[in-house]
Amino acid sequence: MADQMIRAPCLTGGVRILACDIREAAREICQLQQTSPTATIALSRGLTGGALMGALMKDGQRTALKFEGNGPLTKMIVEADYDGAIRGCVGNPAADLPPVQKKWNVSGLIGKAGFLTVSKDLGFGGAPYQGVVQLVSSEIGEDIAYYLTDSEQTPTAVGVTAALGENGELVTAGGFLVQALPKADDDVIEKILKNIDDLPPLATLFAEEGPEGVIRKLFGDIPSTILETHGIFFRCGCEAPKVERALLTLGTEDLQELLNSEGKAEVTCEFCRKAYHFGTPELEALILQASGEQGQ
Ligand SMILES: [Zn+2]
Repeated sequence: MADQMIRAPCLTGGVRILACDIREAAREICQLQQTSPTATIALSRGLTGGALMGALMKDGQRTALKFEGNGPLTKMIVEADYDGAIRGCVGNPAADLPPVQKKWNVSGLIGKAGFLTVSKDLGFGGAPYQGVVQLVSSEIGEDIAYYLTDSEQTPTAVGVTAALGENGELVTAGGFLVQALPKADDDVIEKILKNIDDLPPLATLFAEEGPEGVIRKLFGDIPSTILETHGIFFRCGCEAPKVERALLTLGTEDLQELLNSEGKAEVTCEFCRKAYHFGTPELEALILQASGEQGQ
């Protein structure tokens, strides 16, 4: 089954639930990043959270989540577009930690002290909106819920899960997001909160019943409907002109130094690991362009 995001509102209004399965995309991204087992779990949880945040965006918008903590992973960035495209990278993919009480030590890998920065490009061509919160548990789901509840003032619960199979391959990556909207009925919220508490272990639930099963369990006997289902997939979106623009920000002096010392430049995309090569003629053209831009 292909990766998907399901959007399900409560029929009496006021509460929406999103649930997604992003296993295939997460597996592809973790392979590109060559993540250790614990980093695979961390990045898969992060990508799930990113996909859920992306599904809150409107046409043409995109969002980016940056987790920066004092753990060995150093940082994790996930980005999601309104159309279901996701990508992600981590600072130190080889970083790994032994489990604690048979649980993946994601909080240790990210580090308890740090920040979650959420950027949103709302597609109006203006500067992206940015919000920052402290990491609350560094387990990813709680941190995203805290950001949405505290920074965006929308009471939100988030659950994300990832699991590896016997051979170390990613077999589960998915999650849910529950939001109480301004007109939410207190009884409905109370019931859903109880249903969240009563959920079986999320990885098992996803493996057995998928995102539809999670939505069914969260709503329980509350009337709801499935509004929409759309695909989630990996897409990097990097391209030569964007890499050139990044190189241009180095300025003429640094570019000239690069030309003198190396005669070429190689830039690797941190998300998809694609290498972009710039030879002497390309660097000379960039220096000309940079000096023109500086002269303006
Ligand atoms: Zn790329």
